[in-house]
Amino acid sequence: MDYYSKTITKLIAELGHLPGVGQKSAQRLAFHILHMPEEQVRTLSEAILTARTSARYCRECFTLTDEDICPICSSDKRDHKTIMVVEDTRDLVAYEKTGQYHGVYHVLQGAISPLQGIGPADIRLKELMIRLQGDVDEVIIATNSTVEGEATATFISKTLKDTGIRVTRIASGVPVGGDLEYIDEVTLLKALENRKELN
Ligand code: ZN
Repeated sequence: MDYYSKTITKLIAELGHLPGVGQKSAQRLAFHILHMPEEQVRTLSEAILTARTSARYCRECFTLTDEDICPICSSDKRDHKTIMVVEDTRDLVAYEKTGQYHGVYHVLQGAISPLQGIGPADIRLKELMIRLQGDVDEVIIATNSTVEGEATATFISKTLKDTGIRVTRIASGVPVGGDLEYIDEVTLLKALENRKELN
């Protein structure tokens, strides 16, 4: 049953499609928006639309950015011979926040998951292998310590065996099943410092 006008019902329904937003929260957000000054609502909606339309993947590392090549890949202050492999852009941001990692990244856009039918061809692994044909000293695998993250790490280390590239895995001081983005910076740095050789 429609308690509100059609436009308000639609707004609540759209907000309810966002992750972590249930029916009650959607209603609360909708009413908050309806009480905001019109100018502020316009700024918010324009920010959403502009971010969405300019969003793209970096041609080099496949992180989410609004440029052809992201600021990290285009920086000459970064060590381009060290590549940290992460599952998504939020993991990259988590490591960037430590301010202590000076290499570059490769964002897989997921992890191998046989259960969900996600194989090596479904994430950005081929693009990683192409990058590794260049001048690379070390690949640091920083996928999550979930079944999927571990399967992905194993796949990468097997593929890179005998290539002469050093392959390391961040230490499992990271809680099992923990998403990288929720782990504090000290733990992340420890995990990086204590990384172990895979090949
Ligand atoms: Zn990049």
